[in-house]
Amino acid sequence: MSSWRLRTVVLLPVFLLCACAGSAHRLPNVTDAELKQTQEEIANSHTPLKTYDRSDATYRKDVSRITNRLLENAQPLCKKTGYEKCFFQTVYSARDDLNAFASDGYKITVYRGLLQYLESEDEVAALIAHEMGHHLARHNEEKTENANIGAAAAGILTAVLIGAANANNPYYDSYQQQQSAETIDNMMAIGAEIGSLSYSKEEEREADLLGAYLLARAGYDLRKAERIMVVLADLPGNEGETRAGLTDTHPMGIERLAAWRKTVAEIDSNPSKLPYATDTASR
Ligand SMILES: [Zn+2]
Repeated sequence: MSSWRLRTVVLLPVFLLCACAGSAHRLPNVTDAELKQTQEEIANSHTPLKTYDRSDATYRKDVSRITNRLLENAQPLCKKTGYEKCFFQTVYSARDDLNAFASDGYKITVYRGLLQYLESEDEVAALIAHEMGHHLARHNEEKTENANIGAAAAGILTAVLIGAANANNPYYDSYQQQQSAETIDNMMAIGAEIGSLSYSKEEEREADLLGAYLLARAGYDLRKAERIMVVLADLPGNEGETRAGLTDTHPMGIERLAAWRKTVAEIDSNPSKLPYATDTASR
């Protein structure tokens, strides 16, 4: 079997297998009309992005104060999501990357490059709360799991296909077996990569939802915080939105903004200030 064909046959099912985890929380349902309305509104009120120059010391202080304020109010939400330790730590990096990410189950890293575009404390809090949301929903754990599933599935499928292709081949010698073993290793590595691809749209929406609840609990202004969605969609390299260079891990766009607004309305009328679970939640 040619190598591209082997890749297609093995990796397509691996890809489908890994793209399966659903949200444990009920995500807002955005209609086409709501999407269109948000899009028009943003197009009409669009102002060019600008940067707000603050010192590293200010950013460090802001980030630590905001993280603490979110944490002080997060306990019921941590409990609800089954997060053992309601402990998150935000690290500020003075690098110019347009990025922020969650790692190690508790760590959040935010870069100056991205923070400089944010105007209010509510926006910075939204960024940090969103990354906390990825932690609360265990999106990174799923990724490690998916990477393992992807590697195993790709390895098994490749081995089966190579075995079948050589079943009646008397000339399948030890050299060829060695080559086959290397092929299996390569396919496993590719399978792992597919399994751990960046966050899905649904994961981003779930992190937004949990982030919004965290913000509300800590008393931040959700209507002011939403500006971060517009900023992310507008960042250099992302003009025209839909996908953020904010690494491939954070697809952005009008859709998220529209969903955010529905979430804000949901939180306003939700006395428990805890997100609703999906009916089919299996975690
Ligand atoms: Zn995200």
